[in-house]
Amino acid sequence: MSANQSSKEIPSIVKHMFYGEVLEDEVFPFPHLNETQVEMAKAMIDAVDKFSQASIDSAKLDKEAKIPLEVLQGLAGLGLCGLGVEEEFGGLGLDTTLYARVFSQVAGVDGAIATTLGAHQSIGYKALLNEGNDEQKKQWLPKLASGEVFAAFCLTEPGSGSDAYSIKTKAVKNADGTYTLNGQKLWITNGGLAGFYTVFAKTEHDEEGGKKVEKITCFIVEKERPGVSFGEKEDKMGIRASETRAVYFDNVIVPASNIIGELGKGFKIAMNVLNTGRLSLGSGSVGGMKSILKLATLQAKTRKQFGNTIDNFGLIQEKLATMAANIYASESMVYMTTGKITQGMSEFSHESAICKVYCSEKLWDTIDKATQIAAGNAYMKEYPYERIMRDSRINLIFEGTNEILRIFTALSGIKGPSDDLKELGKITDVSKAFQDPIKSVGILTDFAKKRMNKHFGNKTLTKVHPKLEVYGNHFVSCLKDFSIAVENTIMKFGKNIIGNELLQMRIANMAIELYVQICVLSRTTSILNKTTVSDTDKDYVTLLTELIMRDSRQNFTRNYKRLNSSYDKLIPKISQAVSQRDGFGFDIVDF
Ligand SMILES: Cc1cc2nc3c(=O)[nH]c(=O)nc-3n(C[C@H](O)[C@H](O)[C@H](O)COP(=O)(O)OP(=O)(O)OC[C@H]3O[C@@H](n4cnc5c(N)ncnc54)[C@H](O)[C@@H]3O)c2cc1C
Repeated sequence: MSANQSSKEIPSIVKHMFYGEVLEDEVFPFPHLNETQVEMAKAMIDAVDKFSQASIDSAKLDKEAKIPLEVLQGLAGLGLCGLGVEEEFGGLGLDTTLYARVFSQVAGVDGAIATTLGAHQSIGYKALLNEGNDEQKKQWLPKLASGEVFAAFCLTEPGSGSDAYSIKTKAVKNADGTYTLNGQKLWITNGGLAGFYTVFAKTEHDEEGGKKVEKITCFIVEKERPGVSFGEKEDKMGIRASETRAVYFDNVIVPASNIIGELGKGFKIAMNVLNTGRLSLGSGSVGGMKSILKLATLQAKTRKQFGNTIDNFGLIQEKLATMAANIYASESMVYMTTGKITQGMSEFSHESAICKVYCSEKLWDTIDKATQIAAGNAYMKEYPYERIMRDSRINLIFEGTNEILRIFTALSGIKGPSDDLKELGKITDVSKAFQDPIKSVGILTDFAKKRMNKHFGNKTLTKVHPKLEVYGNHFVSCLKDFSIAVENTIMKFGKNIIGNELLQMRIANMAIELYVQICVLSRTTSILNKTTVSDTDKDYVTLLTELIMRDSRQNFTRNYKRLNSSYDKLIPKISQAVSQRDGFGFDIVDF
């Protein structure tokens, strides 16, 4: 069993929302850290803070585009290279929640360091941790957990970014059972620094009937193997001190004992690794936002204009309040997810995709607002804002772009109810609807309503705090609309949903808002129920909750309305015109 403690299987919360169901017993109470976790987290946070104050100069790291060896060694000495590795292999054995909290603290200090440590353990050796055999673990984990050896995750190639399945790197089996690897990987974090490379390559497999097919297999490739080489260190926009290089494999011979998991199952292994990687990006974004808000608050409290400190002005207050709400919502989402994983949720791909998308976008919004508060100062390299802005931008791009993750959230979420409706179509008169789906939207809406009544009737959430009842009702109403929208979409578009990305985006955006809402409602309910929390703190979280719930409902409704409006039809037409004109295409002097 992993560092997570429970063996009870907890279903995916988001997956159920696509059926119009909220798993109240799972969502409430909020999975707060227990006493042991709090103690451990505080000790680690303290250690990270002390080390960073003494030894990390982010401006220097950024300028020199390098993390000095002694800093890496110092981080490793704190145990930060083996957070999730079992103690028997020399790691700290933290569960997912503690891992997230510690990683958040590191990310709040420096984006390049967080990227280096994240690429090492959140993805670099995660396949080994998840799928490696005993021999492989014994051989590698102690060195990886201690930081003696760094790890890298090699999936991306020049012709294969978002379309990860299309990689061209090949591993051909030799007569003696070894494999010969040839290919090129691009933009690999820790490339050159790492000694341990998790490499995804295509292998050939026999299908029934003698047909050959290519599948992806996951290999361990050590740096010192003949034929492994590296490109120049990339000169990047941000996270400049992290190493990013191309990695080349030129007739690299690898023994079969270096295969992680089953032959031909590498794609699934890669996707599982990225699921946890995305959670780290979510918790890292929370740490980043907290540091940014601290900076922005000090700036707003000390900068005077028109005879007043600028925190007295409504438009600055709007920014500070939104930034705090961004943090509270993101943090609630991340720790709901990690808490449930720790308790036994093993299928969390929807939740982790949503955490990555939501938290990275809120981080970007937060640094944008902080930059506006600090204004001219923020634009100067003397201050950290521009560096943090450059460092933050990558989170919307790597480990699955936010576009791809929205598509994933919508299509994989819709799949469940879609399969169910097909089944239902065989046994009830709803089957008529399948023969003429567009005309039948009404019938199916009716069906969806009945189904929703089965789940909820006119009820609201039963476990939400009475102070939040109105927002609980909003949530239920959004969830009903969502369920009906999902079913109508399935009926109306069938398989054509796949080609309709704007529709997918709307569905994904609604799912994201629902997850935010339920996580925040659960967390605030728990806080309001605690006798140890002061009234002032309770008032603060209640205010944050109100702001988040109102904004979220508006975002939900905008996406819901656009599902069936003509607005989205404008987009492909304009975009095609832009493509035909190779840009905007005319000028004020033309007409
Ligand atoms: C600093 C840095 C570090 C990295 N570290 C690693 C690493 O350690 N290991 C590793 O394997 N990779 C790494 N990467 C690669 C990273 O994961 C990819 O950049 C990312 O997956 C996107 O691929 P791409 O850049 O080729 O963009 P593309 O896939 O070419 O996409 C370009 C744009 O098109 C959009 N797009 C693509 N397909 C679709 C679609 N079907 N529908 C809608 N929109 C679409 C994308 O969202 C994006 O906006 C790193 C990248 C960077 C910049």
